[in-house]
Amino acid sequence: MLQPGLMMDRPLLVSGIIEHAAGQFGDVEIVSRETHGPLFRYTYAQCAARSRKLANALQALGLGPGSAIGSIAWNNHRHMEAYYAVSGSGMVMHTCNPRLAPDQLIYIINHAEDEVMLFDATFAPLVKGIATHCPKVKAWVCLSDAANMPALEGLTGLHCYEDLIAPHPEHYDWPDFDERTGAALCYTSGTTGHPKGAMYSHRAIVLNAMSGCMPGVIGISALDTVLPVVPMFHINAWCIPYATPIVGARLVLPGPRLDGPSLYELMETERVTISAGVPTIWMALMQHVEQHKLKFSSMRRTAVGGSAMPQALIAKFRDDYAVEVRHGWGMTETTAAATMGFITPKDQNLPRDQQHALLAKQGMSLFGIDLKVVDDNGATLPRDGVSQGELMVRGQWVMSRYYKSEQSALIDGWFPTGDIATIDASGRMQIRDRSKDVIKSGGEWISSIDLENTALQHPGVAMAAVIGVRHPKWEERPLLLIVRKPDTSVSREDLLAFLAERVAKWWVPDEVLFVDTLPVGGTGKVQKNELRKLYGGVFS
Ligand code: ADP
Repeated sequence: MLQPGLMMDRPLLVSGIIEHAAGQFGDVEIVSRETHGPLFRYTYAQCAARSRKLANALQALGLGPGSAIGSIAWNNHRHMEAYYAVSGSGMVMHTCNPRLAPDQLIYIINHAEDEVMLFDATFAPLVKGIATHCPKVKAWVCLSDAANMPALEGLTGLHCYEDLIAPHPEHYDWPDFDERTGAALCYTSGTTGHPKGAMYSHRAIVLNAMSGCMPGVIGISALDTVLPVVPMFHINAWCIPYATPIVGARLVLPGPRLDGPSLYELMETERVTISAGVPTIWMALMQHVEQHKLKFSSMRRTAVGGSAMPQALIAKFRDDYAVEVRHGWGMTETTAAATMGFITPKDQNLPRDQQHALLAKQGMSLFGIDLKVVDDNGATLPRDGVSQGELMVRGQWVMSRYYKSEQSALIDGWFPTGDIATIDASGRMQIRDRSKDVIKSGGEWISSIDLENTALQHPGVAMAAVIGVRHPKWEERPLLLIVRKPDTSVSREDLLAFLAERVAKWWVPDEVLFVDTLPVGGTGKVQKNELRKLYGGVFS
């Protein structure tokens, strides 16, 4: 007979994180870029105190357990206070992606039944446009002090954050409840159909945040200063705002300034050691650093994910700038990271380019996560690095069904990701494509990600995207779209010859088009559906 464990049953709650930080690392600094420009500084103790004030203020507005509070906001200290006040008091923190189309924003705010909306002044025009379509929202709270409030005459229920929390006490008893309670809600970007909501439990967030601190994951300790560029409005900023208080790392929040020069300056002046973001952010940063012949004086690691980090960029960070790249994979439905790649002891003696190739894969599953790749019939494929099929995931921070859906999202207990992947013998998973982006040519699959990665190794290429285009004979053929690096003149022929040396003959794109920019969506990914709309007919 199984024996019962005789430990206390203390729930894993988000409020426990900020109180831990206030008690153990009370004087550790949070630096936050205000929406109107200057840097603001305070400590974890002050952050906890103001979170409690906000919890009291929300209660005074008549909100209670289970109420949904929306946010349309940058990475800043007030957004961080909301993360803790809302979830900690048993409400649901619904982070909204401001880059969604306004009708999608209205849809998710109404679907989530948000009763309060916290927003940054930047988004005042957006709020003005959507407010009348969101009847359940009774308070629109601008994350600002009185001096920097935007003009929003006529908006009913408008509050200034600082004035709202000012009269309330710093004391608040965080309630204890089941750790499986919903803490935060985030919707997928809805590239097909309506966005769907993933409701994260306290348990999922706390476990993921603890995992993120581990040496083989993002690897955060009290010695670090962490700059999450990945937005707090999408997938919990990969749980970094929950992870740094656990270990007492210094936190730097970049506010609205996410361009290469601003990020570089913040990294240098604040002595940032670890950062995290999508590859497009690092491309812009690298362009700035190279152009001005700069160096990183404190940065030692960056965590990357959201889309594939090109091998050429990994090599540049590691070899030219001594910045380690941790490449991970996750999705809205997995709370934050589910995999992470790093150089293990057995890889350490490999030539550098082979190490970079390993890092270009999306890494090993984290403890708590299981992965498998299945064929069209659902049969598990071998872990040989070549057999590719749909990636299935399960684990302690993987969603089981979408918010307000009665139906399980799982197949035999696994979440189908819609990603096409391989897993090799050492457990490294590699995303070959998203199922909707994979190119089917003559019944065989061509990986758009592999082609893009290869094109990006050409010194004249700044950005690359490959889409499958309808073809009368082959069903689909790859079309390569290129943004040239400034002052370079790489030609169609150069690129095709470059690719022909590096990929299978039938993978070489049928055509190359040069464009000034590529459309980038709300989560920093190239919008291939837009490209398919524009160029889908070029071979017909
Ligand atoms: P959406 O892109 O629709 O907003 P998410 O933000 O949830 O959805 O992104 C999840 C998807 O992003 C994954 O299913 C995968 O296709 C892609 N993705 C995430 N990380 C990586 C990575 N490191 N390499 C390649 N693709 C990635």
